[in-house]
Amino acid sequence: MKLYDTQSRQLKEIDLTQEQVRMYCCGPTVYRDAHVGNLRTFLLSDLIARVVRLNGSQPYLIQNITDVGHMSEDLINDDKMLSQAKLEKVDPFEIARKYEAGFHLDLAALNIEPAAAYPRASECIEMMLSLIKKLVDADFAYLGSDGTVYFSAQKFASYGAISGNKLDSLKPGHRYEYSEEGAKRFHADWALWKAAGDRTEMVWDSPWGMGFPGWHIECSAMSLELLNGHVDIHVGGIDLRFPHHENERAQSNALINEEAVDLWVHGEHLLFEGRKMSKSSGNVVLLNDVIKSGIDPLAIRLCFLENKYRSQMNLTWNSIEAAHETLKRWRLKMAQWSTDSSITVDTEIKEAFNTDLDTSRVILRLREIEKDDTVNKASVFRYADQVLGLDLDRPIEARVLTDQMKVLLNKRATARNEKRWADSDQLRLELENLGLEIKDTPEGQVWS
Ligand code: AMP
Ligand code: ZN
Repeated sequence: MKLYDTQSRQLKEIDLTQEQVRMYCCGPTVYRDAHVGNLRTFLLSDLIARVVRLNGSQPYLIQNITDVGHMSEDLINDDKMLSQAKLEKVDPFEIARKYEAGFHLDLAALNIEPAAAYPRASECIEMMLSLIKKLVDADFAYLGSDGTVYFSAQKFASYGAISGNKLDSLKPGHRYEYSEEGAKRFHADWALWKAAGDRTEMVWDSPWGMGFPGWHIECSAMSLELLNGHVDIHVGGIDLRFPHHENERAQSNALINEEAVDLWVHGEHLLFEGRKMSKSSGNVVLLNDVIKSGIDPLAIRLCFLENKYRSQMNLTWNSIEAAHETLKRWRLKMAQWSTDSSITVDTEIKEAFNTDLDTSRVILRLREIEKDDTVNKASVFRYADQVLGLDLDRPIEARVLTDQMKVLLNKRATARNEKRWADSDQLRLELENLGLEIKDTPEGQVWS
């Protein structure tokens, strides 16, 4: 099984002989509902975990919940949680728990299997403090004149290996991190522990006084502590390459004096109707919007699977509706094809999953198999669905035509033969109200 590693810029083999494949996926900042773009990234770790399992190995996934320390990009020095708490006029922890619960509902609706643990940043403060102390003792970090503890970027020789952003090209004034110019020794240093200043909520005591953790140290702490000192596969969205993952790598490697992560996997972003999906640009679709419009949330999963994770993809309402139709058709056909519950390995599908998670090739292959009468179609679909997670075996509610439906269908067929279009439209409405879906084809009307 191979995946593209952002750091070495090549496909890398995953060691499946180990007892467990240790995975870490950067989780949500719980100050708002996750949009379907975020969910595309969260799906990525689920797909990788499922392919690991398909190969007979055991994934062990940790995903953090960021409920403190993630500073806003637009409001300098404002914590995303605290700004939202002010806006909603409630306690920041209440905000955090509310959106965390919503995140779990979204994952379940998308058939994303739960991680082994979802540690909250606010509950791992001791863990972070002990790592920060180690970094200070080893001279990788120092106390700034503002009471904040900074990581000293220049002490870490291979800084920039993931993103290609070398320290010499990061000019002072390039705003990519908190703004504490003056208090820190070098412009590219970042905060591990921020002094509370006049902030009174979400602050903790520390050897350097009251404060709160930086966002990057959270992921070093949780990945190293909860995955026993090493990460086989680290997953996140492409925007996290820099500075988040670059800084996490510097911290973790400095702590254990070796490469902490084998493979950095980054998922490309989702666009919606041609524009970047983000809260700040107001172009956001929530999974709940999709569910409310009567569409199976797994249609979103299918849309994502139709694209390679390393390509930007453009989601549209048309593509969501088309995926919804495909799901319905496949489930119906599965019920018709299925004579047993066997699973047949398809070598092309296996190869596609194992070669940088080429799910779009798998979907194309299923479309071929759908038309191929020489194979046990249901059995191959079932094999692929172990990773695709589309519930293709979900039983279809079987309903028989009532006498009333039969009469209306006959009447409509006659109306169409006699070109009485208004009558035919009226009859279609009546049939739809009874729960039938009618399509007109060159061979006449068909219903489902
Ligand atoms: P956040 O909750 O903002 O920390 O983001 C959670 C995850 O979603 C991160 O891994 C981001 O890289 C990822 N992400 C943010 N926007 C998008 C997008 N439009 N498409 C795909 N992933 C995204
Ligand atoms: Zn992270």
